[in-house]
Amino acid sequence: MSLYKTIYERILHRIKYEPENPESILNFEEAKEAYELSTRDLLFLAGHLRKYYFQNYVLVHIINNIRNGNCAEDCGYCAQRNTATGIPTYSLKSEEEILKEAEIAKQNGAYRYCLVTAGRGINAKMAEKYAEIIKKINEQIGIKVCLSAGIITDPESAKILQEAGLDRYNHNLNTSQNYYDKITTTHTYDDRKKTLEHLSLHHIGLCSGVIAGIGESIDDLINVGLELNRFNAQSIPVNFFIPVPGHNIKNYKELSSDECLKILSLFRLMNPKAEIRMAAGREIYLKEKQHLGLKVANSLFVSGYLNVKGSSTYETIKMIYLNGFQLDPDTENTILELRDQILSEVTPDEFDRMHYALQEMKIELKTIEELRPFAVHLQKDKKNEA
Ligand code: SF4
Repeated sequence: MSLYKTIYERILHRIKYEPENPESILNFEEAKEAYELSTRDLLFLAGHLRKYYFQNYVLVHIINNIRNGNCAEDCGYCAQRNTATGIPTYSLKSEEEILKEAEIAKQNGAYRYCLVTAGRGINAKMAEKYAEIIKKINEQIGIKVCLSAGIITDPESAKILQEAGLDRYNHNLNTSQNYYDKITTTHTYDDRKKTLEHLSLHHIGLCSGVIAGIGESIDDLINVGLELNRFNAQSIPVNFFIPVPGHNIKNYKELSSDECLKILSLFRLMNPKAEIRMAAGREIYLKEKQHLGLKVANSLFVSGYLNVKGSSTYETIKMIYLNGFQLDPDTENTILELRDQILSEVTPDEFDRMHYALQEMKIELKTIEELRPFAVHLQKDKKNEA
């Protein structure tokens, strides 16, 4: 029998004396028990691990939809699904456009540049195309890349990407095996798991996350969190569902900020060493409490989420630094000027206003200009020349 009577004591003992244990700090039953702790206690416990592995550093990711909309799949949470409407659609951006946007992402302090394509998945031919782009970004821009191009059914595709130097591929499990058919019918949870297996076999690091608030139970969230631990996911985006126009999630839930903080804490405890990302929905549900999320998460997106707007680089960097965090040393030097400008300008009033602005954030879809800034720019240039 354990010396420690309460779940709080047991977790505290483990994180203090066995922090290097790569296993989840919690098993399924313990995770359920832990979720009943207060938000404050959970943040405190999970915050120990965050500090132990990542100090006060934050990794910033920028997403680029390199192909948007018109997807034949029916993922109920996605604005790009077959029957969803209201978003701009376009085929694959040109290499030139993708490279320019990679450069901008680097200048904005991004640690990783995430290339996301709409669609079910890739075959070897498409993998070759992406491999070319990845090589050029590595050689010419020097920013880490993550590719999110859907299901991989043939190991050859993973091999091609690995040989091109890709060290991270995003493929979210999203929810538990039990709940998966409630959110998607055109592919299965096993399709997603097999994709992660192909990638692991070729030593490509896994970025795989979840969506909370899509009608799942806490059991579903714990099951997927523990599954990601078994896969040794290096990066885990924790998304809070945003009801985009055309979605098909019938029983979605508007999460409270406390629920979001508890979920983030639980994912840190289940995946101590992973890069836990406070992802989509942070501005909407956590509002002025985003800095509390950073006490357990060590990563976030700036400039929005695929088709939904989010905080700008300026707002995000301000939130990070005003709350005692800093960008990781490798990328901080790209935003020193902006950081210094922000810090030199901050007054108590501004500090309050920043919180107010975050509170006022509403769901807004991105426009084509925001999704394809360079293409739009090039079109304008052509018109002006004519
Ligand atoms: S999540 Fe991906 S596969 Fe599913 S509908 Fe959206 S773009 Fe298509």
